Amino acid sequence: MDIFEKCHFPQIDEAIMQGYYPYFQTISEKSGPVVNINGESLIMAGSNDYLGLSTDTRLIEAAKDATSRFGTTCSGSRLLNGTLSLHEELEEKLASFLKKEKVLVVTTGYSANLTALSALLGRNDVAVADRLNHASLVDGIRLGHGKYRRYRHHDDQECETILSKIEPSNGILLVSDGVFSMEGDLADLPTLVRLKKRFGARIFLDDAHGIGVMGANGRGTAEHFDLEDEMDILTGTFSKSFGSLGGFIAGPASVIDYLKHTATPFIFSASMTPAAAASILQALRIIQQEPERRHRLLGYAQKVRKELKKLGLLLYEGLTPIIAIQTNDDDITFSYWKHTLTKGVFVNPVVSPAVPKGKQLIRMCLMATHTEEHIEQILNACEYAGKMSGLIK
Ligand code: PMP
Repeated sequence: MDIFEKCHFPQIDEAIMQGYYPYFQTISEKSGPVVNINGESLIMAGSNDYLGLSTDTRLIEAAKDATSRFGTTCSGSRLLNGTLSLHEELEEKLASFLKKEKVLVVTTGYSANLTALSALLGRNDVAVADRLNHASLVDGIRLGHGKYRRYRHHDDQECETILSKIEPSNGILLVSDGVFSMEGDLADLPTLVRLKKRFGARIFLDDAHGIGVMGANGRGTAEHFDLEDEMDILTGTFSKSFGSLGGFIAGPASVIDYLKHTATPFIFSASMTPAAAASILQALRIIQQEPERRHRLLGYAQKVRKELKKLGLLLYEGLTPIIAIQTNDDDITFSYWKHTLTKGVFVNPVVSPAVPKGKQLIRMCLMATHTEEHIEQILNACEYAGKMSGLIK
């Protein structure tokens, strides 16, 4: 049999034929939260640039300056020849911000999870994870040598049953998103902490969407619940609230040192670019010094959630700037996406395999740099698309 035989995707061919293929849309220009796609100026309500820092002049200048000093790449792994003073400064400042003993910065958030999980999970260990965790957590667990047990989203009972069947001689890692990336809801950290204590487990939290956004000081979902000390390993990304590119793992010094010397996704891959490291350092300063960005963003999230519910749209409950409108159907999802676009607003259509079949949704992300007028236009587009797609009767 030809190995290439499986390489076709009928749903995609169908979407292209019908003229509603929504993926790989080409952005030709970007100015704050406004982008140009196919010659149209659109309000971006689908990116994870929550604080609007990717176009902040301070980050851009820092990236230019670092490129002049260190060049465009380190051309190698951190272990051998790719560690810059910028990486180390970032690790120290981030550890101090997150109140963790040590931090390792890596090239993407995806790689942070692959690095930490693949090296931590030995043959005697079990990862117990929420079914809606991000794909990088799933892949990281699969790359490790431990067993993998999943519980239904937020199902404490099932999680507890799984834990109760694990032998005390096995190591247990409870693995969860902090903010679930598609649905925008928060992990139930108080319950996870209770279970961690009862079963002698460790918690591994990926707070890619929480850091910089949630918590009184922007330290994320664990700060929101006042449970920071209970998070044994914290991972995250710099591609969202930090407006740059990269990822990190924070935890006890012994664990971080172990990962640095054993994790193949980290050892055998080139280090973060100088431009990224310098822009992230700027972003970290801004996150700490400009809480008003976070406050504005969460205010917008509250307002948009309230207005969309008034229109009769069904949302995943939450507080975060990820607002997920439940469509539960491919055709409605694509129709909704297309109609928001005609009103000048770009949102994300999310279908299987990013979410289970029957749980399709429209994922919107707000930004601190949206103006009040942008928010009004987003709401108007949502109402129009809701009516045209049949979601609003
Ligand atoms: N974890 C979560 C929860 C995410 O949503 C993402 C990005 N979508 C990642 C990890 C990966 O981050 P990055 O884009 O930096 O690879």
